[in-house]
Amino acid sequence: MSALLPGSLVNGQPVTLGVMGGGQLGRMFVHAAQAMGYYTAVLDPDPASPAGRVSHHHIQTDYLDEQGLAQLMQRCAAITTEFENVPAPALLTLGAHRFVAPGADAVAIAQDRAAEKAHFVKCGVPVAPHAVIETEAQLAAVGDDLLPGILKTARLGYDGKGQVRVKTRAELAAAWSQLQHVPCVLEKMLPLQAECSVIVARSGHGEMVNFPVQRNLHRDGILAVTEVNPGVIDPLLAAQAVAATQAIAEGLQYVGVLCVEFFVLEGGQLVVNEMAPRPHNSGHYTLDACDQSQFDLQVRALAGLPLTQPRQHSPAIMLNLLGDLWQQPPKLGSEPNLLRKSGSDPDFGSGPDACPAWERVLALPGTQLHLYGKLSARPGRKMGHLNITGTTPEAVRATALQAAAILGIAPF
Ligand code: ADP
Ligand code: MG
Repeated sequence: MSALLPGSLVNGQPVTLGVMGGGQLGRMFVHAAQAMGYYTAVLDPDPASPAGRVSHHHIQTDYLDEQGLAQLMQRCAAITTEFENVPAPALLTLGAHRFVAPGADAVAIAQDRAAEKAHFVKCGVPVAPHAVIETEAQLAAVGDDLLPGILKTARLGYDGKGQVRVKTRAELAAAWSQLQHVPCVLEKMLPLQAECSVIVARSGHGEMVNFPVQRNLHRDGILAVTEVNPGVIDPLLAAQAVAATQAIAEGLQYVGVLCVEFFVLEGGQLVVNEMAPRPHNSGHYTLDACDQSQFDLQVRALAGLPLTQPRQHSPAIMLNLLGDLWQQPPKLGSEPNLLRKSGSDPDFGSGPDACPAWERVLALPGTQLHLYGKLSARPGRKMGHLNITGTTPEAVRATALQAAAILGIAPF
């Protein structure tokens, strides 16, 4: 495919980039594409989807709706995806007529934990000891060495959903029932010293660039904090993680942005956890701390434009803003209500829409607020993120801890 130049016309129409899925990742893709002069189209059934609301075109149909897919193809010169659970047949239909990146094959592997792990092994990257459980016989044959473990549905899990921690064979059997006997992967519970991730972008010509290794803190299976500065992960491990991610992308002949998550074990070994065929929550700091964001690179890879190595110009911390922060009931004598002047906001804490104290957070130097335009806050729902940048890792950390205290996020 020749490059789709920003601002050019295709058949007399402004060149338009499409995205399957209208969540926050789609929204940030749309923002990046529009900043470069592209028109955008989003396919998502939800009329209030975060990306649909900011796109030139929003096709409100189901992902498999033939007319919806036809409209997307009619509008768009190239199409990407913002979540890995886009049905593979939809990507195949689109891919037969339009440039689609990443391709259906890569997305299909990322959709299935068992296929994903097999791919990692094929690339020579170590994975957690695990067993695929699809039948009663496979359940019975599970080795005791995998316990305690985590039973994860092979498909459709995210943010710790579709996972049950099990200590005994009886708990394992009960967990598989609880998960309705869908195909699962049982993983041995590993002693984690840290978690990290690497984001690469690969072009259709095979050029590959990468962001620095990000250190991630998860709480209840959901990403809470990402910290990125040269000291966060041992340099040797970081180099290994980048090389492993490159091998995984190369092995898929991947085109687009790919994120690979890793565990660093207590003994210091690196083990790959999972991959996401799209930009990733742990890369949101790139919006404010790098000369190009992960979304800029997604646009470039999709449009066939050159990829250049992104440069992080500031140490950074990202705090995820979950819906829990909107729902703090008034707790007299405890954070965060004490931090608000009494009487300044009589509604605070009185309902689900009670808003966190942004004016106090934004008074801290180097803070950038990103909200995704979601209208209702629920516990665990990703509502936005806060990026903190500064001149030194220490200064960034101090500011991030202050912001966390104001918001009622536990210290890290
Ligand atoms: P999701 O698709 O929901 O992100 P993950 O497989 O990444 O699922 O699991 C979510 C989190 O649970 C991980 O980031 C990690 O903190 C913890 N976790 C998952 N698998 C293991 C494991 N085998 N050993 C220890 N912790 C794990
Ligand atoms: Mg994960």
